[in-house]
This record gives sequence, structure tokens and C-alpha cells, in this order.
Amino acid sequence: MNKLKNYLWIVLLTYMFMSLIFVNKLGYLALICMFAPIFIAPFAGRKWCGSFCPRGSFLDKLVIKFSRNKDIPPLLLNTAFRWTIFGLLMSFFVFQVINAWGNWNKIGLVIASMVFMTTIIATIVGIFWRPRTWCVAFCPMGTLATSLSTTEGGIIFDQGCVSCGLCSRSCPMQLNTARFNIEGRVTDPRCIRCGECISNCPKNILSEELANGKLKERLAN
Ligand code: SF4
Ligand code: SF4
Repeated sequence: MNKLKNYLWIVLLTYMFMSLIFVNKLGYLALICMFAPIFIAPFAGRKWCGSFCPRGSFLDKLVIKFSRNKDIPPLLLNTAFRWTIFGLLMSFFVFQVINAWGNWNKIGLVIASMVFMTTIIATIVGIFWRPRTWCVAFCPMGTLATSLSTTEGGIIFDQGCVSCGLCSRSCPMQLNTARFNIEGRVTDPRCIRCGECISNCPKNILSEELANGKLKERLAN
């Protein structure tokens, strides 16, 4: 399942090409990606963002090649900033939909254009800072999903941490993953459960636990 995210960027590029140029009504397909992270968040946190989002895959696989990989400024990680962006983007989107109301083709085009515009922004900020800057600071669905995320499950620590900090350095969301060793679990709701920290821990003491600790899933291999 985890390998799927390596190829989801193809879905995003195909979607934009087809919906903007040929069949505007295909634009509605983006609603799946808009609502899925919100519905999943109360059960599995931001798992959608880390494993199934085509734009996330685009950032992880393509934008990463051009990224300066610089630290994201604290201002952008501020909760007030994220909600301001949420308000601006959603207002713009709703305004456009109201303008196109009654014309289903045009609404499809509005949605597809929104995906295109936000992908451009995600690419620019991803090149400027870390590839996933969009996901942690700008994405309105990500902001909503973060606020709805469950506190259950997620990345858990076993005994044996040597405080090397490699998990923190590998985190695309710029979380201080190692800090959560004290709690035994990454409790930051912005964690997208991508598994990068699991793969990069030299002690192999990290794993992902789904839903109330009943099911563990090793993502490292
Ligand atoms: S803490 Fe680990 S799983 Fe969560 S976003 Fe960071 S690298 Fe990914
Ligand atoms: S990478 Fe592993 S050993 Fe290193 S700080 Fe993180 S959890 Fe601890």
C-alpha cells in the first residue's frame, strides 16, 4: 500500500491536464481529495496526506528534486497564519463557485483551476523551503484535518532511543519527532504518518500504530 504514493503524482498531472483542457467536469474528482483527509482525520489523523494525497506524492517525488530544503520559517507554522490562509483560499473558492453557479461545466473548471493554482503555490513554496511546506503551512484541507485529527494511534517509540535526532531531521513536516520520545508517541496532529522517521531511525524503534493500539503496521520496509 505504501508504494502507491510513489506514483500518485501521475494522477494529479493527468487530472489537471484532462480537466483543464478536455473535460471540465472531471474537475469534480478533486472533491474526493478535498473531503477524504477530513473524513479520515478523526480515525487515522493525517494519514491521507502522507500516503494517499496525489499532491503530496507530487511534492515528495518531483518537487523534492528542485527543493532548497531549507527550514520553514516559524511564521508560516503559526496556527493563526494557517487559518488566515484557510480563510482566504476558501473565500476565493466559494466566491468563484457562486459566480459559476448553474453551469456545471464551469464549476468543474473552477475546481480544476483551484487545484492548478494551489499546485503552483505548493511547488513554489516547496522549492523555496521544504517540499512539504504546502502541507504543513498552507493546505486548507490539511489545516482542517489537523484540527480534527485523532489523538489515538500514530508513530510510537519503543525503548532504545539514542537521541541522534535523525527522525526529526527526516520529517517533511519539520516536526521535532525525537522530542516525543518522552511521551512514547508523536502526538502532534500535523504528523502525516508518512513513515519517513520510521525508515530513518537507525535503532529501528519507531513504528506506526493504527486505531487505539490494536493494530501495528511496520512501514520501514
Ligand atoms: S513524525 Fe514521522 S510520520 Fe510524522 S510527519 Fe514526521 S516523519 Fe512523517
Ligand atoms: S532516529 Fe531513532 S534513535 Fe534517533 S532520535 Fe529518533 S527515535 Fe531516537
